[in-house]
Amino acid sequence: MKKAVDYTAVFNLIPKPALLLLPDAPAFTIICANEAYCKATSTSEKDLNGYSIFDAFPDSPEDLSQGAVSILQRSLLEVIATGENKYLQAHRYDIPVRGTDRFEIRYWNIENIPVKNASGEIEIIMHSVEDITELHLFREKYYVTQQALLQTELRFKNVFDYSATGIALVGLDGHWLDINQRICDITGYSREELLQKRFQDITHPDSLEADVENMNKLLRGEINQYRREKKYIHKNGHFIWILMNTSLVRNTSGKPLHFVTNLYDITEQKEAELKLQLSEQRFKGLIQDGSDLVAILDEAANYLYVSPTSITVLGTPPEEYVGKNAFDLIHPDDKAQVFTFFSQLGVNKRIYVTPFRFLHKNGAWRWLETVVTDLREDPAIQGIVANSRDITEKINVLNQLRISNERYGYVTSVTTDAIWDWDLINETLVWNEGYKKLFGYENGADTFNYDVWRNNIHPGERATVEQSLQKAFEDKNCTYWRSEYRYLCSDGHYAYVITKAAIVRDEQGKPIRTVGAMTDITQQKLNEATLKNLNTQLEITNKELAVSNEDLEQFAYSASHDLQEPLRMIINFMGMVEKKYNEQLDEKGKQYIHFAMDGALRMRQIIMDLLEYSRVGRLQEKKQFVAIEKIIEEIKILYRKEIEQKQATFQLHALPVLQTHKSPVLQIFQNLIGNALKYSKAGEPVLIEIGAHENGSEWIFFVADNGIGISPEFHEKIFILFQRLQRNEASGTGMGLAITKKIIERMGGKIWVKSEEGKGSTFYFTIKKEHN
Ligand code: ADP
Repeated sequence: MKKAVDYTAVFNLIPKPALLLLPDAPAFTIICANEAYCKATSTSEKDLNGYSIFDAFPDSPEDLSQGAVSILQRSLLEVIATGENKYLQAHRYDIPVRGTDRFEIRYWNIENIPVKNASGEIEIIMHSVEDITELHLFREKYYVTQQALLQTELRFKNVFDYSATGIALVGLDGHWLDINQRICDITGYSREELLQKRFQDITHPDSLEADVENMNKLLRGEINQYRREKKYIHKNGHFIWILMNTSLVRNTSGKPLHFVTNLYDITEQKEAELKLQLSEQRFKGLIQDGSDLVAILDEAANYLYVSPTSITVLGTPPEEYVGKNAFDLIHPDDKAQVFTFFSQLGVNKRIYVTPFRFLHKNGAWRWLETVVTDLREDPAIQGIVANSRDITEKINVLNQLRISNERYGYVTSVTTDAIWDWDLINETLVWNEGYKKLFGYENGADTFNYDVWRNNIHPGERATVEQSLQKAFEDKNCTYWRSEYRYLCSDGHYAYVITKAAIVRDEQGKPIRTVGAMTDITQQKLNEATLKNLNTQLEITNKELAVSNEDLEQFAYSASHDLQEPLRMIINFMGMVEKKYNEQLDEKGKQYIHFAMDGALRMRQIIMDLLEYSRVGRLQEKKQFVAIEKIIEEIKILYRKEIEQKQATFQLHALPVLQTHKSPVLQIFQNLIGNALKYSKAGEPVLIEIGAHENGSEWIFFVADNGIGISPEFHEKIFILFQRLQRNEASGTGMGLAITKKIIERMGGKIWVKSEEGKGSTFYFTIKKEHN
C-alpha cells in the first residue's frame, strides 16, 4: 500500500465532519477522522483509525430497517465502481454510545467522494457527513402534522359536502355564503340559485320574526348559539320543517364575521309528531272524554288502567280502581257468568260479555255491556282491554216493557173486551181472543183488519165514526179517541159497542200506533133504557104523590081549620051551660060537662098537632148558625115549671154549632126534652143527658133520660102518628115523635131509640152537616 500524503492537518481544518477511507472494499478502513467527525459521532480517533468503517459503526439493533450498514456499503461500492461522488440523503445511521451497548438515533446527509491520483485511480474516499437528525426529526414531525392537517381538511370537506346535515355559512345580512349539498337537497334549490339568495327569501313568514330576533341576540353577544324549529319554503312551494342550530363566528378581535348554521330536515318527524298528536287527541276523545268506560286489566282481572269516564259512569275516580280486582265489584249473581266469558280469552281474542251488574259508588248496581279484547301481546297495551257501556236505562226500559207486555197479555186474556193493537206504520193489526168471543166471529176473525172493522159498523154511523177517528189522528195533541156505535155480530144483529183507544205518536206528532178496546155495551144500553123508563115512571108517580100529598095536607089543614069552629062552639056552649045551669045540675051532670069540656079541649090539641104535622117543611126560613146549647137553654125556659116540679137536671156534652134552619131543630129538641120530662119515673128526680158526635158527613145527637123506658116491641111504633103507650096519660096526643121524625127526615136524617122498660130511654138522631 502506498504511503499517502499526510494531509491530516489540512483535513482536520475542514469544519464538516469527515472520514478518510481506504477503497479497500469490503472493509473500507478508516485512515483518518477529523475533529468535527469525532465530535459529531462522539467517538475518539483511536476508536476509528485503522478500523473498518462498518466495524466502527455497526448496525443498531434498534434500527428495525437494519439497512444502515448495507446502504453505506452499496454507496461506497458504487463510488469505487463509478468513480463518482455518491450521496445519501437523510440516511438513518444510529451511533453507538461508546462504553455502552446502546445506540443513538441519528440521521445524516452523507457524501462519499473519491479522491483520485494522477492516473485516475481512486486513492482515498472522503466520507463526509452532516448530522441532520434534528432537522430530520422536525421535518418528520412537520410532515406528520401536515399530513394530519390535510387529512382533517379532507375529512372536513367530506363532512361539509356529504354531511347528512345541512351546513351553511350565512352572511350578517342573511346571504348564503357557502352551503353544502344537503341544503340543496333539503330546499330543492341548486347551489348557484341559493348563493344568490338570502335565508330570509326561503323562510316561511311565520318563522321569520323569531329568526331575526335570535340573530340580533347573537350579534349583541347575549347568546352564543340558538337552536329552534322553523319552516322553510321548498322550491316547489310546499313548506318543510327544519331544526336549526346557529352560532356566530367572530374574528380574533371579536368582530362578527358570519353565522354558521346546521340544518336538519325534520319534516317527516314533524308530520309523524302531528299524526301522533292527532291520534293522541283521538285517543283522548275516545277514551278519556267518551261515554264508554275503558279499562286495562291483567290476566287475573286486576285493574292496570281505568279511563277518567269512570267518574261519570260509576261515580268513582279512575285511580281508585288501580290494583283492585274487577270481579270484586261485579254483582254476586253475575260473577260466574262473567267469569266464564273471561276465561274464554285464551281461545278468543275478542269476547262480547252479556250485560252484568257492576257496583256504583253510591251502592247501586249499574248494568254494563262489555267487549273484552286480549291485547296482552300488544307492546303498547300489555293487558286485557275491557270496553264497557252503561245500559241500565235500556235494561230498565226493556224490563218495564216486558212487565207491561206480560200485564197486557194477562189483561187481554181475561178481559171480555176486544183488544187490538194497530201498527199504523206497518199497517198490521193484532187483536185478542175477545174479539171472536164478543162478536161470534169464530172462523172469520182471522181476517179482521181495518176494512172488516169499518164495514161492520152500522151504515148509519160508519161515516161519523170514521170521520171522528180521522180527526183524532190529525190533531197532534190528541192521544185518546172514544166512540160509541153499533157493530155487526156474526148472527146478524148489531151490538152496541164503545171503543176507547190510546194514540201513540212519534216526535213529529204523527200517529204511529193505536191500542184500544171495544166493549159490548148492549146490555148496559138495555139497562139504561129500562132505567130511563123506570125513572120516568117514578117521576110521574112522584108528581102524583106530591099532588096527593098536597091535597092531603090541604085537606088536613082545612079539615083541622074547619073542625076548630064547631069545637069552639061546643066549648063555648058547654061553658055557658056550666055557668047558667050550675045551680040546677047535680054532681053527675057537672061531671058530664067536665068530661065533655075535657074531650073538646083534647080534640083541639089533636087538631092543632095535626095542623102542625101537615105544615112540617112548608115553612122555608133562611139558614143560620145555630148553637145547640143555646137552643137547649131556650127550651129549659119553656119547661121551667116542669123542671122545677120534677127536679130535673141537665148534663150537656160538647154540643156543636150547626148551619141550619133554627125552628125545626128547636122543635126536635123541644119534643124529645118534653117527652123525657113527661115520661119520668114518679118520685125520682129527672136526669137528662144531651150530646153529639161527628160521624163522617153528619152529626149524631142523643137525648137520654132516666125515665120509665120503652119496651123494645114499641121502638118502631112510637114514631107513628097517634101511637101512644100510656093511654091514661092525659097530656099527649101521640103525634110528637111523628112530627119529630118527619122534620128529621126532611133534613136528610133519621131517628131511632134504644131503651128498655124501666131503664130510661135514649133517642138518637142524625143531622147532615150540609143539608137543604
Ligand atoms: P105523646 O103525645 O103521647 O107524648 P109522642 O109521639 O111524643 O106522643 O110519644 C109516643 C109515645 O111514646 C108516648 O105516648 C110514650 O108512650 C112513648 N114515649 C115517648 N117518649 C118517651 C120517653 N122519653 N120515655 C118513655 N116513653 C116515651
